[in-house]
Amino acid sequence: MDNKIALVTGGSRGLGKSTVLHLAQKGVDSILTFHSKADEAQQVVAEVGHKGRKAVALQLDTGETRNFADFAEQVKTALQDKWQRDSFDFLVNNAGIGLNSPFSEISEDQFDHLININFKGVFFLTQALLPLIADGGRIVNLSSGLARFSLPGHSAYAATKGAIDVLTRYLAKELGDRRICVNSVAPGAIETDFGGGVVRDNQEVNDFIASQTALGRVGLPEDIGAMIALLLSEGNRWINGQRIEASGGIFL
Ligand code: NDP
Repeated sequence: MDNKIALVTGGSRGLGKSTVLHLAQKGVDSILTFHSKADEAQQVVAEVGHKGRKAVALQLDTGETRNFADFAEQVKTALQDKWQRDSFDFLVNNAGIGLNSPFSEISEDQFDHLININFKGVFFLTQALLPLIADGGRIVNLSSGLARFSLPGHSAYAATKGAIDVLTRYLAKELGDRRICVNSVAPGAIETDFGGGVVRDNQEVNDFIASQTALGRVGLPEDIGAMIALLLSEGNRWINGQRIEASGGIFL
């Protein structure tokens, strides 16, 4: 996969960071975005450098669509300055937030915030970046196991991920004429900072998930980063328009 470039949103921590590092391992450079954690993002850039690849970190709030045109210009400039290219190859729409609250208590503001980052942002960021994605490129959208199975407290969050799965199919259909493959990856519960780090830090939650998972443990960021890097590798060019769950086999 030498000379390929990925743009990974939310690449400063968690699953996005792991994806950037696994891609670097396979010879892929990255433009990664962060929201607030500039230092973490720079550390990821340095780690990519240690693996002999190049990376650039850009600030982006995926909930603010009005900034996307400017962001696309920044990406264009970075591509020119760092790689002397005018396109990149892989878009990984990874940045996202959670909300764990009973359906009856979710406010309209909470709902809008969630939709803006997890769905509207993915929709319009992909639209804004489309001219910069190389023909024959790939898009991976992060979904969630919760879009297949239902656990109380996740109605709004899971619905945003269900929307991502539907959008994925439509993008695959409409971008096929440019040979762009689009798939969604649906992780099970993974030990990251996500949702306040509850899966990692709350032993009861961790034990429950492990007990419901065929492979008998909770997921780790590496489980997803490695899988996304595989999905983006040359051998997987015929998987398209699919929702692929990576959960160790939860609630089978
Ligand atoms: P983390 O909370 O560990 O990391 C979130 C990342 O997204 C960070 O890089 C953060 O940037 C960035 N981010 C947060 N808010 C915004 C925003 N408004 N605009 C731009 N970037 C933002 O999450 P995970 O790595 O665990 O999750 C990544 C994706 O995977 C999400 O879409 C999530 O829904 C999905 N997922 C996660 C699961 C899990 O159990 N962890 C399970 C299923 C799906 P910064 O560091 O600057 O704050």
